[in-house]
Amino acid sequence: MLITTAGVVIRERQIGENDKFVDILTEKNGVIEVSVKGVKKLNSTNSAATQLYTYSNFCVKKRGDRYYLNSSEQIKNFYGIRMDIDKLSLACYFSEVIAYAVPDEESSGEILRLLLNTLYFLSNSTRDLPFLKSIFELRFVCELGMMPNVTACIECGKFESEKMFFDLTGGCFYCENCFSDAESDNIVSLTPAVISAVRHIVLADFNRLYNFKISPLSQNKLSHVAEQYLLTHVGKSFRTLDFYKSITQE
Ligand SMILES: [Zn+2]
Repeated sequence: MLITTAGVVIRERQIGENDKFVDILTEKNGVIEVSVKGVKKLNSTNSAATQLYTYSNFCVKKRGDRYYLNSSEQIKNFYGIRMDIDKLSLACYFSEVIAYAVPDEESSGEILRLLLNTLYFLSNSTRDLPFLKSIFELRFVCELGMMPNVTACIECGKFESEKMFFDLTGGCFYCENCFSDAESDNIVSLTPAVISAVRHIVLADFNRLYNFKISPLSQNKLSHVAEQYLLTHVGKSFRTLDFYKSITQE
């Protein structure tokens, strides 16, 4: 069976001299592992299109559970990411999260869109890494179907208070008055600036997703909340995240 799909190469593994496996985040089939033959040969037409963090059209043959590359055509490469160890290590973390959490053979177009936007900003150096990391983490979990209820206090419906409390396990907010009744121990307090950033990332249309500013202090809190929300709901730790934090001192 031949399948045609657009996608981004999120991981690659060399096999011998000329062959490799690539993991591709596709539009409609989740993440697929594809065997690529003869990629190092001088006349290989698939060489550019199957590089890490390249967005391409792929035509693959499916035999049993396995995919084999038939042909490919590069749409856009994000080569700049591989020139910077901080950016590369952050992209590797996103790859590991995607490979682990995106369900097989399910529509994954919104996650692909989120990754493409993230790679664009990463390779063009227009936004800070913690900002891009937080947006990816929080929005990724939403796109997996675990969107927190961030509109108001879950108990009394109050929209704003001086402090709100975010229950990371339950995925909901409590106001100051209702907080004492909350039962989770995975709760963080948020200032209005961080609340509005969380609401924006969860609720904004894609074309406005990156259109907000945040102070360094609020970004620190947002970084913690977004990372913990992802780790809580994906339910795994990631060694690529540990590596990213070790080299950026975040
Ligand atoms: Zn309340």
